[in-house]
Amino acid sequence: MQTIIHKSLKKYPAIKQADEILRSCVHCGFCNATCPTYQLLGDELDGPRGRIYLIKQLVETGICTEQTRNHLDRCLTCRNCETTCPSGVQYSRLLTIGRELAEKNSPRKIFDTVLRRLLRLVIPYRQRIGVIVKIALKLKPLLPAATQRQLPEEPRVELDLPKHQRLVIIPKGCAQDAFAADINTDCRVILDKLGISSVEIDADTCCGAMSEHMSQTSEAEMFMKKNIDAWWQSIESGAEAIVSTASACGVMIKDYGRLLENDSAYAEKASRVSKLCIDISEFLAKEDLSLFENSQSKKISFHAPCTLQHGQKVTGKVEPLLEKIGYELIDYNDAHLCCGSAGTYSILQKDISAKLLSNKLGNLLESQPDIIATANIGCILHMRSGTETPIKHWLQLINPSKD
Ligand code: SF4
Ligand code: SF4
Repeated sequence: MQTIIHKSLKKYPAIKQADEILRSCVHCGFCNATCPTYQLLGDELDGPRGRIYLIKQLVETGICTEQTRNHLDRCLTCRNCETTCPSGVQYSRLLTIGRELAEKNSPRKIFDTVLRRLLRLVIPYRQRIGVIVKIALKLKPLLPAATQRQLPEEPRVELDLPKHQRLVIIPKGCAQDAFAADINTDCRVILDKLGISSVEIDADTCCGAMSEHMSQTSEAEMFMKKNIDAWWQSIESGAEAIVSTASACGVMIKDYGRLLENDSAYAEKASRVSKLCIDISEFLAKEDLSLFENSQSKKISFHAPCTLQHGQKVTGKVEPLLEKIGYELIDYNDAHLCCGSAGTYSILQKDISAKLLSNKLGNLLESQPDIIATANIGCILHMRSGTETPIKHWLQLINPSKD
């Protein structure tokens, strides 16, 4: 694809990168076939190829209309199109650059601006969401059933585990810590049984993904640097990995090296952090889990979050682990499609998100599983809003003290 970058934008390194990405697209449209928003809305401009054209226009003219920004906003950032693209187009990187330009050139309406600001002020801070969750728990009987199902099921458990020679870091993150601290607790218990120590570090924070998705680059960098500082002592003490239990955080942390490559103070550390980051499914796939075999024979539908299957390109790891320890895994249609959670998408694009959720749950529930398992807190909470079938992090099916 030929591009003629607008002269006022040529000086920016990100625009040069956008130009390279635009040139790698051959306009074949294969990506549209797996794009959830294109499938739902049927508009070329709500598919990856159309959005790529809009970003091309943006870098060529420097002008962003409200309509263009809306089409870019409607993208889930699910990266399904990247998995499908035969030319290796780095769509998500291009979208980030396009959204940043759109944000600068097309002011939002006041309600949208205030809502986005509020989300940024609350969600990345686990203490702030924690306060909201505590109030919601007090009011639980008055809340709608869908909201009740999203609230924490169990009180936080403080662990006192023995020290082992091997050590890993488990990021606490933001929303997961407030809504489901038991996921990391279960992870730590499992690792302990495998002879591996783990640390959760109070000083770490949101991975920065939400700020990055909302085109708040410097805010995202602030979160990334806080995390690097928080984890560094344990890294220097020999932690062998940063084990992510939330796939949306994992995909972001694995990208710290690239995102901070031009920061002279943090580039090297960020690169080391990214290399150390591993999804818990990749980590456990290398361990002997025979200790956890059980005879429950429960039927499980596993939803691989987009951040796991398309973002991290980690596929086919969880299912064999669960099968090996005794669960029956069920195949279902459209396993490659997003559930509609997508960070703040379920709040900012309610209608599309609700339709995606209904489609996803329809497919997952068709064979009547006992449990739906997944690998990211956003998907867990979003799917819990739509069904009474238990939705769990797949890790929680391994821990023998549960179920
Ligand atoms: S992004 Fe890839 S699949 Fe989509 S139109 Fe471009 S080259 Fe084709
Ligand atoms: S990231 Fe997902 S929603 Fe966005 S264009 Fe690609 S496939 Fe479509």
